[in-house]
Amino acid sequence: MPDCIFCKIINRKLPAKIEYEDEDILAFFDIKPAAKVHIIIVPKKHIASVNELTEKDASIISKMALVGKKLAKKHHTDIKGYKFVINTGLYSGQTILHLHMHLLGGEILAGRKILEI
Ligand code: 5GP
Ligand code: ZN
Repeated sequence: MPDCIFCKIINRKLPAKIEYEDEDILAFFDIKPAAKVHIIIVPKKHIASVNELTEKDASIISKMALVGKKLAKKHHTDIKGYKFVINTGLYSGQTILHLHMHLLGGEILAGRKILEI
């Protein structure tokens, strides 16, 4: 998709700090991190959002989650915890219309007091 920022990153038309790549998935650091660890995980195929996922794309989400798990471990936030966030549509605040999963971690992200750290 020519005007898509994430397609441009995938096609190396825009620079990004790339953290993981395979034939289906690219992961790169968010330009404006909202947590100590903030990595964006995208399918190389342009899919606008979860709303546009079809049965044919069934493996994509699980691949994204497995890459997220691997990167959470690499960044030492697997034990203490992390979040996957997939914004979908206007009300969620989705700003880039290319399916992406945020991996957020490296610090306490719970909105309430936690029992133990
Ligand atoms: P959304 O709000 O759509 O779920 O998340 C889009 C994310 O992409 C935001 O966290 C934003 O900071 C990040 N982002 C937007 N443009 C760029 C860019 O050009 N490069 C990188 N690395 N991240 C970007
Ligand atoms: Zn795209």
